[in-house]
Amino acid sequence: MSADGPDLVVAGAGGGLIGALRAAQSGLDVLVVEASEHFTRGNNTSMCTAMIPGVGSRFQKELGIEDSADLFAADVERKTKGTGDQRLARTLAEVSGEMVEWMADEVGLEISLMTDMHYPGHSVDRCHTIPERHGNALIDHLARTARSHPKIDFLVPARLTDVELDADGAVCAVIVTDPSGASERIETPAVLLATNGFGADHEMVAEHMPEIASATYHGSETSRGDGLRIGTRLGAASAYLDAYQGHGALAAKSATLLGWATIMHGAIMLDTTGRRFAKETSGYSEFGPYLAARPGATGWVVFDRRVHDLCQPFTDFRQTVESGAEVWADDAAALAEVTGLPVDAVVAELEESALAARGHVEDRFGREYEAPLEPPYAAVRVVPALFHTQGGLVVDEKARVVDADDRPIPGLYASGGAAAGVSGHGAGGYLAGNGLMPAFGLAYLAATVVANG
Ligand SMILES: Cc1cc2nc3c(=O)[nH]c(=O)nc-3n(C[C@H](O)[C@H](O)[C@H](O)COP(=O)(O)OP(=O)(O)OC[C@H]3O[C@@H](n4cnc5c(N)ncnc54)[C@H](O)[C@@H]3O)c2cc1C
Repeated sequence: MSADGPDLVVAGAGGGLIGALRAAQSGLDVLVVEASEHFTRGNNTSMCTAMIPGVGSRFQKELGIEDSADLFAADVERKTKGTGDQRLARTLAEVSGEMVEWMADEVGLEISLMTDMHYPGHSVDRCHTIPERHGNALIDHLARTARSHPKIDFLVPARLTDVELDADGAVCAVIVTDPSGASERIETPAVLLATNGFGADHEMVAEHMPEIASATYHGSETSRGDGLRIGTRLGAASAYLDAYQGHGALAAKSATLLGWATIMHGAIMLDTTGRRFAKETSGYSEFGPYLAARPGATGWVVFDRRVHDLCQPFTDFRQTVESGAEVWADDAAALAEVTGLPVDAVVAELEESALAARGHVEDRFGREYEAPLEPPYAAVRVVPALFHTQGGLVVDEKARVVDADDRPIPGLYASGGAAAGVSGHGAGGYLAGNGLMPAFGLAYLAATVVANG
């Protein structure tokens, strides 16, 4: 770090590490300020499934997949029923293909395109991942690479508590506070707020998204809305504060993610009446509030050996199975017994969904099936969850935080959960990857913009 302070302060070592690495590789002196000593095993990036959308990447082209910003923006438009931020969707689409290639070529991650499962809402396969398909491996690699970079310093644990603007309204310094309460002022012309959203602030969650407030919060305990509060105090605009990623398949027994690959490969979800209650393939996020509204706010994901085997590439799925959360039964009646669900309903749903999967009847919720479920059956009891919030500071096409008149606050950038995302309102607009795409994409973009002056 130079005597007159870093060129860029990155607050938050989740997706923010992408910004730190990109900026350092461009020759900038970077200071990463991170609130938690245990960030590699606690923040959202460390918990994720590592599905990173990259639009128009060479990994797609190698498989003959044509993708474009127009196609991604249209997917966002459809999933959010016209309410998603189109400027940001195009911005993220345009940067994301280049970014996943950079993650492979310059950061050294073993990136590949995921094609064995098609995430709901994406009209082409565009989620890139790493062999482990888990955030632990992803963040370990990012943190190790950043810590060994000569142009990146870390201040951990230390919390960004304020940002100062000069007389012209541009960023000139940050205030960081250590756990003892001691504060330090650090001069810098630029700061990236990568502090995630406000999922851990129960009052804010209850205010903005009451339908999911009683569900399990399965996200970082340090997502306290710091970026939103600091930015708002500086005059920034905020948007989509009711938006969030929910999930309908957190295993009740182990508090691990069962995962939606089960559903996409053909599993069904039953509530405690033994009945299906919505189109499972619409998306996992909306199943958070759907399940929260069912009797007892719990349900069962039912699948078979074929689905079980197809889900093996997912660390989360394997951990759920290893925890003992999965139960097996030889037929529908035995499944009802082992789950405690009403036998008539379970038998009827398995029969009906198998008929629909074979094309003999129309599915009553309009879903399609990869294949019919065959006995023996497996089931995992699931509960609804909130993973992270998707509303926050409004950013422009350069990841700059803007005010209510869309004027950038010079030197102030935001990414990930600290920024407003592209998921529109509520839970239903969330497309797979809408978490990491702005977390990594906006951090990458901010660093590029700062480096280019
Ligand atoms: C189980 C699970 C699976 C998921 N899978 C996917 C997926 O496959 N694809 C996808 O796109 N999204 C996924 N998501 C969502 C995704 O993980 C998040 O959207 C994304 O990681 C957010 O990144 P971030 O940088 O904003 O926040 P984080 O990764 O949480 O990083 C923020 C960091 O900021 C620190 N911090 C907070 N306040 C301060 C402060 N004041 N000063 C300094 N530091 C501070 C925190 O300690 C934390 O380390 C998943 C989420 C969960 C829970």
